[in-house]
Amino acid sequence: MPLLHRRVSKQTYQGILDKMKQRLSGWAASQLSFAGRITLTQSVLQAIPIYAMQTTNLPASIKTKIDQVCRRFLWSGNAKMRKMSLISWHTICQPKLTGGLGFKRLEIMNGALLLKVAWNLITEPGKLCAQVLATKYRVSLSDIPQSLPTRHGSHLWKSVGRVWDHAKRGLRWNVGNGLRVQFWWDCWATTSSPLAAFTLKPIPPELCDLYVADFVTADGNWNWPKFSYLLSHNAVMRIASVHPPSAWNGPDKAYWAAATHGKFTVKSAYDHLAQPSLQERDTIWRLAWSWKGPQSIKTFIWLVLHNRLKTRGELTSRHLTIDTHCERCGYELETTIHVLRDCPYSRSVWLRLLRDHNHQEFFNADLVGWLSRNLQASNKYPCSNLWRVMFGVAIWQIWFWRNHFIFTKEYWESDVIAMDIKVRATEIQ
Ligand SMILES: [Zn+2]
Repeated sequence: MPLLHRRVSKQTYQGILDKMKQRLSGWAASQLSFAGRITLTQSVLQAIPIYAMQTTNLPASIKTKIDQVCRRFLWSGNAKMRKMSLISWHTICQPKLTGGLGFKRLEIMNGALLLKVAWNLITEPGKLCAQVLATKYRVSLSDIPQSLPTRHGSHLWKSVGRVWDHAKRGLRWNVGNGLRVQFWWDCWATTSSPLAAFTLKPIPPELCDLYVADFVTADGNWNWPKFSYLLSHNAVMRIASVHPPSAWNGPDKAYWAAATHGKFTVKSAYDHLAQPSLQERDTIWRLAWSWKGPQSIKTFIWLVLHNRLKTRGELTSRHLTIDTHCERCGYELETTIHVLRDCPYSRSVWLRLLRDHNHQEFFNADLVGWLSRNLQASNKYPCSNLWRVMFGVAIWQIWFWRNHFIFTKEYWESDVIAMDIKVRATEIQ
């Protein structure tokens, strides 16, 4: 990790933006599909600032510019051109299961990367880089400071100071020899809060800064009279369940509360910082991502689930056109469900595909109900797997067919479309 960075200046930041623009100029953006642009934005553009963010808290203005470049490329294939965003950037940055595309929010990513530096300083104070920093800023890392003195620090030091509190709050201890864990102020006996939160009366000053090892008798048992009168019954019971520290146990070991196995990872730090948006899970987004078939169709299904196809109805609501009619059948309002299912042209394709299915149910559901019933693995239709695939291919193909008609005024027979859908679906399956 580039811990001892050269001075951070405006050029450092400009370098990130230049690099992004350089990448963009190398891509034949007009040839790329939406699915292709998603992949490139996520795996290439969003990865460029990571190196700098490991040691620097990027200024908000730069983060905004980086997001802007990503956003414009995603929707228009071009860093400069503005184009209508069908889905807000905030939604794009939600996890896939809650309706987003799992893009990283720079602000949170930056925090998670800096948290890693803080975490390493806390858990590996013996490492060279930690020692260099500790000496330079005159802090002792063997006692974990409550906060970092950041006033005169370098850019890195100040950046780490910002997340120090988060690092401390995610810190839990397995007591070994008890020489590093502070009895009252660190989380070791309970997983929720330090013991200071469970006191019945003020902690006597002479006990205040002691370590866990200081509360053990000469024969290696807990020294109950020294502390039990200060604590609630529950807290005392918790301590009784912890082995008293002993030199034989080796050093105290820190673990990261936000990860399942206690091991700190940038991903778990990101998720930890991104809460509570992770809480609201909704199964409907699984429908798009668990659909088995080409990425371009998955992405299309995702857009449909958000009800964001550029139908006349949608364009009108964004004041981009005033004509709401369906250009194929003349129906007064072209909505997503109209284009994909109810327009007589689309309907005739479905009738060729449906055969034994329950027509009543199929043509009466609302958009979300219709999509979820037909995209779910366990639907009650015969040959449900093939149907699932066929349904995804069909809505995609019908949309393509509609666009082709609008742009060329050339009409394809519905038999041909239905045949095409069947062939494609069988190929995929
Ligand atoms: Zn129509």
